Amino acid sequence: MFCLAAAVCLCRGAGAAGPEVTPAQVEAMLASLHPDYALYISGVRYGATRLHPAALYAGLVRAGGRDPRMPEDGPRTGRGVRNELVIYADMFEPWRTPGWRLLVTDHEYFHARHLARGFDIPVAGFDQMKTDTDYREALAWAWVARREADNVYGPLSAAERAEVAARYREHYDGFLAFVNRRQPSAWAHYGRFLPDPDSLVRRAAAAPIAETPPPADGATR
Ligand SMILES: [Zn+2]
Repeated sequence: MFCLAAAVCLCRGAGAAGPEVTPAQVEAMLASLHPDYALYISGVRYGATRLHPAALYAGLVRAGGRDPRMPEDGPRTGRGVRNELVIYADMFEPWRTPGWRLLVTDHEYFHARHLARGFDIPVAGFDQMKTDTDYREALAWAWVARREADNVYGPLSAAERAEVAARYREHYDGFLAFVNRRQPSAWAHYGRFLPDPDSLVRRAAAAPIAETPPPADGATR
């Protein structure tokens, strides 16, 4: 499952009236971040519903796939494959910063390029869906956390920065626990791609913070 956010803001109130995102906007963000994005993402389109499903803001599907949550629609893996990015009109809450929108878009770019073996990072499978998810999500959150620290996206709000750190740490810890149970020596291999979360948080702390306050009526998690 290539979901962006497992924990979802359930406070619909003001959010329902906020600006909606379109495939063209997401394609423009992808192009601004990565002129090569079309090598890995063949198109961006809406999912079957206007509102994102619970626990999913956006996700990759194979060509013609409709629902990123369904295994039969899930993205393909292999050198040179191109998957499609499914988005939802309400995937960004109105209070999200422009930096967050770029970060989320870049997160999906990472997944697409990783699955197409466009990075020198293994596309490993562990025969456990949770572990596969932890591994791939940890990699993608590490990617955006590093780039956030380099101020690629512009300022995030304090809540958004904390969310990036929390999501990375969650998946890092999950994958590390799996490796330690199965074969601790394997961390010498996989750990090369997954920096210590504390070091990433310290790096990100030097990047600028947006003034945008988080929503008054609910938290992000
Ligand atoms: Zn993801």
